[in-house]
This record gives sequence, C-alpha cells and structure tokens, in this order.
Amino acid sequence: MTTPILEVKGLQKLFPVKKGWFQQRSYVHAVNGIDATVYEGETLGIVGESGCGKSTLGRCILRLLQPTQGEIIFQGQEISRLGKKEMNIVRRQMQMVFQNPFDTLNPKLKIGHILTEPLLTHGFPREQRQALLEETIEIVGLNKQHLNRYPHEFSGGQRQRIGIARALMLQPKLIIADEPVSALDVSIQSQILNLLQDLQEQFLLTYIFISHDLSVVEHISDRVAVMYLGEIVEFADKDKLFSRPLHPYSQALLSATPISDPDENRERIILRGDLPSPSNPPQGCKFHPRCHACMEICRTETPRLREVEDRQVACHLI
Ligand code: SF4
Repeated sequence: MTTPILEVKGLQKLFPVKKGWFQQRSYVHAVNGIDATVYEGETLGIVGESGCGKSTLGRCILRLLQPTQGEIIFQGQEISRLGKKEMNIVRRQMQMVFQNPFDTLNPKLKIGHILTEPLLTHGFPREQRQALLEETIEIVGLNKQHLNRYPHEFSGGQRQRIGIARALMLQPKLIIADEPVSALDVSIQSQILNLLQDLQEQFLLTYIFISHDLSVVEHISDRVAVMYLGEIVEFADKDKLFSRPLHPYSQALLSATPISDPDENRERIILRGDLPSPSNPPQGCKFHPRCHACMEICRTETPRLREVEDRQVACHLI
C-alpha cells in the first residue's frame, strides 16, 4: 500500500443559495478544503453524519459534480478541469456503486441491456461485449438467465449485485461505493460486503467506501477519514481509530456503536443538538457548539488538520 492512486488537494465544493434581491449571496460549504491520498488496493472509509459532505466528496472525485476549487490527481493525472471527452476516458477507471440501485437501473430495460450500455459508450466490439457481460454477471453471483430479466424482478441484494456488476463492466481501478449496503437487510449486508472484499482481492481494486454506519466501515476499511461539516476532522488507520479515537467527534460517534464484548464498559457520549447548517457554519471549530470538551479558543480559532502521533487530527485539545 505505497503507490497513491488518487490524491485530493484542497478540494472544495460550494453550492450557491438563492436569497432575496437585497441580501448577499451565500453558499453551502458542502466540501471544504479536503486533502487526502488513497493508495492502490486499499479501502478508505469515509464516515460521518448525514449532511456532512461525504457523498458530495465522492461525486466531486468522480466529477459527477464539478468541484469549486482544488485538485484531483488520479493515476498521476490532474483531472479536476478535464473536458467531457477526456473525462470519459478517465471514467473507465473510476466507477461508482450507489446506495439504492433501483433508482439507477432503468425499469424499462433488461439487465443485459443496462450492463451493455457502458461498453457501447466506450466502443467495445460485439464479441468482447458478450463475453464481458456473461463473465461479469457470474462474478457477482448471478447467472446468464438473469440478463433477460427486468430490475423489478430482483430482490434488494440482487439489485445491488447488478449495481456492482455495472461498476465492474469497464474493469475500473477505483470504485467509490456510496452507502452501498445501507438500504439492505443486515443478513444481506454481510453478503454484499464479502462480495466487495472478494472482488477487491481478485481484481486489485481500490475502494472509497462512504457510510454513516461505523460497524460497516470498521469491517471493510483499511484507513478511515471522519468528516464533519465538509471537513476531515480525523484520519487514521482503522484499528487505531476504532481502538483509540482522539477527536471528540470521533469519540462521540464510536461511543454510540454497539459493543460485542459484554465485559467492555463504554460511556456513551451524547452529541448536543443537530448538525449545524453548512450554509452558516459556526465560527472557530465547527464542532464547538456540540463538543463536550469545548474551550474558549475553540469558539474563535479554526483547528487545522495536522499530524498527531500516528494519525491526523483537527482539534485544539490534542
Ligand atoms: Fe472540541 Fe475544541 Fe477540539 Fe473543536 S477544537 S473538537 S471544540 S476541543
């Protein structure tokens, strides 16, 4: 795990908010100056509450959303300003698995047709298309007969397998999985997670795995970035983060996860209030109105993400 496949530098995504004629234009700071490196073959988990900007970050990396500022370097190439044509070539290598595949599978098309579309877009010859189609559907645990069925004929877990097959059709290097198991029953979740892990080993894939569910992130990730209001507040190896979270927000998130060991005593940290609006974030540390360890300096000075011991943390306390 030493070769970077993706580097993100100062990535920012602002969404303008419409106001009245005489009011100043404001912006939702969905992603605010993210720096991160993803290494070949690893799984980087991105975790945080709904609305913290983790999905927007994933979409910006894939250029499904145009970043406002910053650089995205994929396999050594800066792609944040590439035109549509050049970006289409890069997208063969970067694919996405969505939370609810039913929303992204055209109900009027058979699965074979849906899976062939990316191959047609990228000009694969007919014989290669058929071979890839049959091979990929079996790799994800379905069979050739399923290619002649419509999306509504499948269960949630099978539909997610189809979503994964679609992401695999172009033989990508990087897959961004955005809450891929959140809509599934717990028993099906583990099947899909195991499938993703098997595929990673088989095809040397790199994953960015976005989820609000810490137990799922703990299961699948090598390293984890904890996001709060568009920023990374802690970035560490999975084991280090889960055994000893340093940032008060990570501590609060982890204190709410179920414990498998009945002898382990963990105090639950209750977060005060809701996630503040990203269009009007608090001054200083954005987490300070909810932080149990807030100090005077936290209300005025924004802590920067910096190296602390074996990880990166953004907190005045550490
Ligand atoms: Fe809490 Fe202050 Fe650290 Fe922010 S900087 S997380 S308010 S202690």
